[in-house]
Amino acid sequence: MAGSRISPKMKVVFSEIFYPGYADNIAADDGRMEAIVRVIANTVDFFEADYAPEADISAVHDPEHVERIKRKKLYTISSLAAGGAIQTARIGLTEPAFGLIRPPGHHASVNSSLGFCYFNNMAIAMMKLKKEGLIENCFILDIDLHYGDGTVDILGDYDWTAIYNPASIIRRKYLEDVKRVMSRVNVDIIGVSAGFDAHIKDWNGFLETEDYRKIGKWVSQAARRSGSGCFGILEGGYNKKVLGYNVEAFLEGLALY
Ligand SMILES: [Zn+2]
Repeated sequence: MAGSRISPKMKVVFSEIFYPGYADNIAADDGRMEAIVRVIANTVDFFEADYAPEADISAVHDPEHVERIKRKKLYTISSLAAGGAIQTARIGLTEPAFGLIRPPGHHASVNSSLGFCYFNNMAIAMMKLKKEGLIENCFILDIDLHYGDGTVDILGDYDWTAIYNPASIIRRKYLEDVKRVMSRVNVDIIGVSAGFDAHIKDWNGFLETEDYRKIGKWVSQAARRSGSGCFGILEGGYNKKVLGYNVEAFLEGLALY
């Protein structure tokens, strides 16, 4: 891509440890992270992801669930994703940031995991900020094609959280809904569960690449208007031919802070 349109360079939390496939599913596939890095590498600043302390994971997941993930030998990579989400959220308090992490998290509930997710990265990050007194409240926008049931299971009952999963599968209505909802958000931090499988060339979706730029922009505008922070973390998105460009478009919008 010519020139940097993500300016000043956005901080992207990442690790090359995320490169190799770690399980037999499409979120864990070889080449998925490379497809994103290839597109955004010259326009962002990478920060090395660090493992989440187990206490931060246990703050949202039952001990049996944590033990189950350990037995499946998925604990190490999953705790790196959770740690990366925490770092991203911390940076997001002062400037827009993105967590290029996997496994994804939004289907992971208190005591179960589904849909390629093991630990709920977004819930772990928000709970950490809350426990440290860095935020009073938060808003989570989940733009993955699939409903973020795990995030709702973990955080949905707290009065300091609000979660929005746009439901329409009609492009124009979906975008109108997101724009309207974001125009009313007024919290300390906005986190985006950024799945890109709603793209028209991904998982039978309907959004265009340019739509991710708009969504990123509406998030950053909401953050600026309300004096809050904002960040996104990767969830789904599987077509390696378009995934990098969709992430790039989202970051360009988010960078308009
Ligand atoms: Zn999905």
